[in-house]
Amino acid sequence: MNYISTRGGIAPIGFKDAVMMGLATDGGLLLPTEIPRIDSSTLARWHDLPYRELALEIISLFADDIPSADLKRLIDRSYDRFTAPEITPLVTKDGVQILELFHGPTLAFKDVALQLLGNLFEYLLKERGEKMNIVGATSGDTGSAAIHGVRGKENISIFILHPHLKTSPVQALQMTTVTDDNVHNIAVKGTFDDCQNMVKGFFGDLEFKENYSLGAVNSINWARVLAQVVYYFYAAFRAAREPGGEVIFSVPTGNFGDIFAGYIAKKMGLPIRRLLLATNENNILTRFINDGDYSLAHVVSTASPSMDIQVASNFERYLYYLFDENPEAIRRAFVSFAENGRMNFSLEQRQRVAEEFLSRSVNQEETLKCIADFHAETGYLLDPHTAVGVTAALEFTSWELPLICLATAHPAKFDEAVTAATGIVPERPALLDGIENLPTRCQVMENDPAAIRAFIEENAI
Ligand SMILES: *Cc1c(COP(=O)(O)O)cnc(C)c1O
Repeated sequence: MNYISTRGGIAPIGFKDAVMMGLATDGGLLLPTEIPRIDSSTLARWHDLPYRELALEIISLFADDIPSADLKRLIDRSYDRFTAPEITPLVTKDGVQILELFHGPTLAFKDVALQLLGNLFEYLLKERGEKMNIVGATSGDTGSAAIHGVRGKENISIFILHPHLKTSPVQALQMTTVTDDNVHNIAVKGTFDDCQNMVKGFFGDLEFKENYSLGAVNSINWARVLAQVVYYFYAAFRAAREPGGEVIFSVPTGNFGDIFAGYIAKKMGLPIRRLLLATNENNILTRFINDGDYSLAHVVSTASPSMDIQVASNFERYLYYLFDENPEAIRRAFVSFAENGRMNFSLEQRQRVAEEFLSRSVNQEETLKCIADFHAETGYLLDPHTAVGVTAALEFTSWELPLICLATAHPAKFDEAVTAATGIVPERPALLDGIENLPTRCQVMENDPAAIRAFIEENAI
């Protein structure tokens, strides 16, 4: 399987090179040259496979330059630290199907992909005799999942910048209590945007990037999307009314990575009638799907902070297919977006979007009410991100198809919003027991790129 860029500027490369490249060197995003179609007899054969075996079947199709025995070992190891035997169990509460994606080490769905990415990096670096210094900025979830994905690994160091005292206390502790030698937490006296701008600056300095082998873990890495394709198959097999029956997925969306994995599963032939894209007040993607209006607005803070995003980095991957795999059209669309803050779509394109997606934007009041009502009716606590998806889903029950809601975080991770909605403090999973009393390691630093760069240079491997 070869990979090309949405911007058309790179010669085809294999899976291993695509993982190491992350963002395509021409500024586009990497995609496979073709999406394999899965026939019905293969779907039937996959139907009852346990999670790890299903993952091996699916990932092998896209990663054919890694020997199968090695891939199996990498996948098995990636899911060892999940506390649910099924990895991503599907539960039903009052007729609502909920796919629990939060049983990994940091209690959010990002672990599903970042545990695998950490193992892939370690494997590929060893094979190539190379080293990598991962540098990233986080508002909370991605940073902790990335740190847990690479802690203790050989030939990798990780530097994660987070805004000092501006993440939730649990999120900060999930990062700073990881005291492995290769993990460097930097709490910046500034905002998330300050952190992100600094990281962009480091990657823009090509000499620094080359000399210190800087690497990224954000959701533009194809391996992250690929790892997430697996649970769409896993859940659809279990939720469909009959083998091969259709389903709908409701996906709380920020950077469009998770729902794009569902789109790939649909393209592979998994019978998904529609993907329901749920947003909070940061609803550029809902406006795009429902009104063809893709125009920039300001980011507002909500109770579902991991979805407080306007420009979704993975959206370009979907546009590539919407623009009939034409890199020239992608380049033109992004020039127009940079100039006018908007993109335009033809009627035919809008019709295609409507055949693939549904969308609903859910505000703060509705989200908190959903958490309260759902708990009153079922005794089950939803985290605020999941509640955005469940609120949206409950509006589309007239489709009369199994509707699977992705539960992207454990309620204890966002306990303030859950308690505000219900008056209940969510029970903490064992992973968080006593986390406040563990030793921590974190460098609190001024919002000063030169000082932070010097810190990275001093501690890089
Ligand atoms: C990252 C995240 C999301 C958004 O997922 P995307 O792939 O960015 O669309 C939703 N919920 C939680 C809890 C997250 O951490």
